[in-house]
Amino acid sequence: IDFGFKQVPRDAKQSLVGQVFSSVASSYDVMNDLMSGGMHRLWKDRLVEALRPFPGQEHLDVAGGTGDVAFRVLRAVRAAEVEERMAAARAGRTSAGGRPRPPADAAGPGPGSAAAAGATPRAEGAAGASRPGAAAASPLVPGRVVVCDINPDMLREGKQKAAATSDLAGDAGLSFVEGNAEQLPFDDTSFDSYTIAFGIRNVTDRPAALREALRVLKPGGRFLCLEFSQVTQPGLRELYDAYSFAVIPRIGHIVANDAASYQYLVESIRKFPDQEAFARLIEDAGFRAVTYENMSGGIVALHSGFKL
Ligand code: SAM
Repeated sequence: IDFGFKQVPRDAKQSLVGQVFSSVASSYDVMNDLMSGGMHRLWKDRLVEALRPFPGQEHLDVAGGTGDVAFRVLRAVRAAEVEERMAAARAGRTSAGGRPRPPADAAGPGPGSAAAAGATPRAEGAAGASRPGAAAASPLVPGRVVVCDINPDMLREGKQKAAATSDLAGDAGLSFVEGNAEQLPFDDTSFDSYTIAFGIRNVTDRPAALREALRVLKPGGRFLCLEFSQVTQPGLRELYDAYSFAVIPRIGHIVANDAASYQYLVESIRKFPDQEAFARLIEDAGFRAVTYENMSGGIVALHSGFKL
């Protein structure tokens, strides 16, 4: 079975990707743990560490699926806000823990506007340091995290997971939005940061998705992409190939009764551009200071860029 980019027309590819993720949605989290031996947790933790979440951060996680990355980011933003509140209390300030609240007259525009989508002026740089003294001037707005995915079944799993998790269930800063990475349903300059984890390789028009990422970011905003990449470590490549092609579809068959979807996942990884080629695509979209780091010998790469 080959659902690859070149073998099927564009619309057919999108619909096949849709079928794959609808089919795996309910077993997606268990399969992630099984297939990666839990490693996906470490890769995602590193993504969030690299993001350096800060109080009041407005974050978009695209192809967010069942919310794994978004939940991590939200928890880290809330932790940064608690820390800032404590620092403010120690310093004798009265309020902290978010971005400065916009003036009342700035909240005006109607539905569909940046304000309606929750966008407000950025409090601090994407690199994450708190702005000294910002807390003293005005009450602060807590950050927010939006999970955006094209597949309603994946989003439903994510919503159920959030609803069943005590610290996420009541958090008004978490939302789920159905949308295509190639045409995001958000206004320009709405977010401080954008992540996409194990999602970009499923997107048909990647340059369009990267341009959309740039568009929705505020100036100074950070783009981070976690994706399977090309194994750089000698010896590991053969082992990894054998594991991917022989073992993963079998696990898919046994656990999810769906070998074909997992065969697709393995093939889509092989077709994805290598680290350097993908870095060039990110630059071509208009991002600056583009870098990447390999994890687990290049099984996964974390690409970073800024809207400057
Ligand atoms: N980011 C999550 C994670 O790391 O656990 C989910 C990754 S999952 C492998 C890939 C996700 O990409 C699926 O939920 C799928 O629906 C989504 N996806 C595929 N094409 C997309 C597109 N064009 N726009 C938005 N999401 C898309």
